[in-house]
Amino acid sequence: MIRTITKTLAAFSFLTVRGLSVTPPGCKVLPVDANWPSIDEWNRLNASLEGNLIRTAPIGSPCHNPTFDQVQCDVVRNNWNRTLFHEESATSIISEGMFTNQSCSPFTPPDAQCIIGVYPQYSVNVSTPAHVITAVRFVKQHNVRFVVKNTGHDVMGKVLGAGSLSIWMHNLQNRTWIDNFSSSRYIGPAVQVQAGVLSDTLYQDAHQRGHIVIGGSFPTVGIAGGHLQGGGHSVLTNVYGLAADNALSYEVITPTGRFIRTSPTENEDLFWALSGGGGTTYGIVWSVTVKVFPDVPVVVGRLNFASFGISEDLYWDSISVFQDHTPVFTDGNSYAAAFYDKSTFTLSMFAVNNSRSGFLQLVKPITSRLNVIGISFNLSVSPFTDLRSAFLNLFGDTQSRDIYASNSIGVTTTRLLPRLQSTEIALKIKQLTRKLANAGGSVVDLPLRPTLKIAGNPENAVLPAWRNSERHFILTKVLDDSATGDEINTAQMQFRNDFGEPLKRLTPGAGAYLNEADPSDPNWKNDFYGVNYQRLLQIKDKWDPDGILFGSTAVGGDRWVEQKDGRLCRIIG
Ligand SMILES: Cc1cc2nc3c(=O)[nH]c(=O)nc-3n(C[C@H](O)[C@H](O)[C@H](O)COP(=O)(O)OP(=O)(O)OC[C@H]3O[C@@H](n4cnc5c(N)ncnc54)[C@H](O)[C@@H]3O)c2cc1C
Repeated sequence: MIRTITKTLAAFSFLTVRGLSVTPPGCKVLPVDANWPSIDEWNRLNASLEGNLIRTAPIGSPCHNPTFDQVQCDVVRNNWNRTLFHEESATSIISEGMFTNQSCSPFTPPDAQCIIGVYPQYSVNVSTPAHVITAVRFVKQHNVRFVVKNTGHDVMGKVLGAGSLSIWMHNLQNRTWIDNFSSSRYIGPAVQVQAGVLSDTLYQDAHQRGHIVIGGSFPTVGIAGGHLQGGGHSVLTNVYGLAADNALSYEVITPTGRFIRTSPTENEDLFWALSGGGGTTYGIVWSVTVKVFPDVPVVVGRLNFASFGISEDLYWDSISVFQDHTPVFTDGNSYAAAFYDKSTFTLSMFAVNNSRSGFLQLVKPITSRLNVIGISFNLSVSPFTDLRSAFLNLFGDTQSRDIYASNSIGVTTTRLLPRLQSTEIALKIKQLTRKLANAGGSVVDLPLRPTLKIAGNPENAVLPAWRNSERHFILTKVLDDSATGDEINTAQMQFRNDFGEPLKRLTPGAGAYLNEADPSDPNWKNDFYGVNYQRLLQIKDKWDPDGILFGSTAVGGDRWVEQKDGRLCRIIG
């Protein structure tokens, strides 16, 4: 029997009844089509997967008739803002409200709509490479859409797909520590990490061995999936570059169903593309081997002030001190993350290989200037002997940080700002952020500068704009949780016009981080991949000749269109 993740399967069984629709030419099959795989075919697939096929149901389905279950519904509602809750579901994602068009919200009344919509129809709980190979062969044979899910942190809409079969990498948790990795490019300690391992899990392991590794700043982001394959910034970016810069080799299942190894000397083109060219595009990563570094003492600092009781001008003058001084961190090989809106400014700082006095010296250009302009601020400084203790202090661990406004729906635009040479451009960017804050939005401002030199001169597909960046600049505005897909699209377009386009005009030639950007950026090919795009497309076509892997902003994604009913169709011509 195919496993079900909830008791609600009956409510959705109509979706698998074979209908009379004919799949349009060039399109993926949907459950309403005559040629959707039969129950017998799904059962045979399940048998060949050793019973690991899951018949899915939307995570909100216990809150709706005819399968309403108050106890289960309360579980869903009470855990909705936990990243791990979505991570432990075979198909749910953290930002699901952005992409599901209210198809099965747990917060609507029991009689409100609950349909499977863009959630995958089936999922494979993967534990062997053979499971992945079987799944890719099945989707190819039956023309079924295919998606890959690891943690579900994706904010670009690549983990969901109407009428899809998903593979769930979550339970691949092996870590193999290698004392003396040796290749023509690197000799030293390394770790081989399977596809489902979370950042914090690896940080704990590394700490026990006196090492540090590159992963997400958020503890529940995956190591080997979208984070590293899309570039991957971290608290160590200004010291060791991006996550992709530290990849040494991969084990990969190709979309044609082969299990292979890639490194700078073996299937080099695939290695190059997987290291920064985006997840779910060229192959399914089974494991990645990454560099490991010796543990270091770290100083954590926090600085904050508020707009309460001071003039708006003084508040924004104070924020501009940080905006003008980001090289304190990028040149100082330190991490900083500023969050600001119209009422508060908070700056979290993380300085490796530093002491309390060294840290105070580092941030002195900022604190002195704040004193001169007369803002009162709080500054706390905490030295730690190792990176993990500092990380726990700043970000918390998997459990303590397991909160995220997963059901908050918002609009976003991001830009990798280069170091600004002109005070006029800097001023215009400051005016833009003030305008955003006054319109109810907020800014996450991350001084990140993974130059080629810092990254160790890797050859990979990381967007060249990263090498010249000074700040990963994220502008967002939260929308009402009941917003529909159309409302989100309209708001995103407006946001792009008001903030995204002006930012682009002020920073021509820069780009945006493909994992954290406007998911409907019309210029995504250039903004996310730059001059690498054509080479990446050739590599995609070589390794994925049938176009099994798709993402609307993944390389080759513009060859497909999603129709109103979610059906994915190849653009002919
Ligand atoms: C709360 C939060 C915090 C974040 N913090 C950071 C941060 O500190 N630094 C940073 O750089 N980014 C950060 N991000 C963005 C994050 O890196 C991306 O969302 C990333 O794609 C997540 O990858 P994942 O594998 O964990 O998640 P998933 O959502 O499961 O996958 C993301 C993408 O990768 C693909 N994928 C997953 N596994 C594989 C695989 N084995 N082979 C091929 N493709 C695969 C998926 O199909 C999808 O396209 C954050 C996002 C959120 C929501």
